[in-house]
Amino acid sequence: MSKLEGRTALVTGGSRGIGAAIAARLAHDGAKVAITYTKGAEAAGAVVHRRIEQAGGTALAIQADAADDHAVAAAIKQTVAHFGSLDVLVNNAGLAIPKPFEETPIDEIDRVIAVNIRGVMVATQEALKHMPDGGRIIMIGSCVGERVMAPGLVAYAATKGAVKIFTQGLAREVAARRITVNDVQPGPIDTDLNPASGDWATPQIALTALNRYGHVDEVAALVAFVAGPEAAYITGASLTVDGGTNA
Ligand code: NDP
Repeated sequence: MSKLEGRTALVTGGSRGIGAAIAARLAHDGAKVAITYTKGAEAAGAVVHRRIEQAGGTALAIQADAADDHAVAAAIKQTVAHFGSLDVLVNNAGLAIPKPFEETPIDEIDRVIAVNIRGVMVATQEALKHMPDGGRIIMIGSCVGERVMAPGLVAYAATKGAVKIFTQGLAREVAARRITVNDVQPGPIDTDLNPASGDWATPQIALTALNRYGHVDEVAALVAFVAGPEAAYITGASLTVDGGTNA
């Protein structure tokens, strides 16, 4: 039996990048998977049909901006209605607007906070209403939530630090239900958000111990492990997958 057979997962921001890889991996491991997205209906459809259904899995795409409380609550209710349960929530949707803090307009800071931390709290609160005992809440934080070794990511890093502490606090509250709460913290991963060919790539590679970018599947593998039965004793943890950036 596959490790996630009979489980249902929702991955926010699952149409591209790390979220798409997580969705495909959880489906490969046997879970039924819902993904959310904002603009990329075509990309979301491709994840559902080409990457998951054609490989024999079951998936559903839902348009829901992580910053929109009502849309997030509706997406979670739709997932439960469609699949019958919600066992695993992966809070992956996030954005960064790299620029010096003093030059960052407050509306851009508001957006980063709204998606990266407020949205995480809203989705988690709604998911907990439906999640059975033994469920999994998994955040996609960032290695900059622990150490910030380059300029230009002040507000972003602050939200990811908040995600880390949110994870630790919540782990204490839901442990009686055997729900685990963990924060997977990627380092530089080649996606549209942080392309390995971009201007920013060279200094990020220099900060890694392994001297390279990571692949989305390397993050997805860790998320799949945390979602699975062998990770039942891991909670409140910050798990970096960053090529040694924070070493
Ligand atoms: P991408 O920008 O490549 O992909 C983001 C995905 O999220 C897309 O599917 C996008 O779809 C969706 N999305 C974006 N905003 C929202 C929103 N408000 N509500 C719902 N969905 C949304 O990002 P990555 O895959 O690189 O990043 C994913 C997560 O990993 C983020 O939390 C990021 O902070 C974190 N991370 C990434 C690192 C990296 O190096 N790539 C390093 C450390 C952490 P659509 O455009 O349709 O909305």
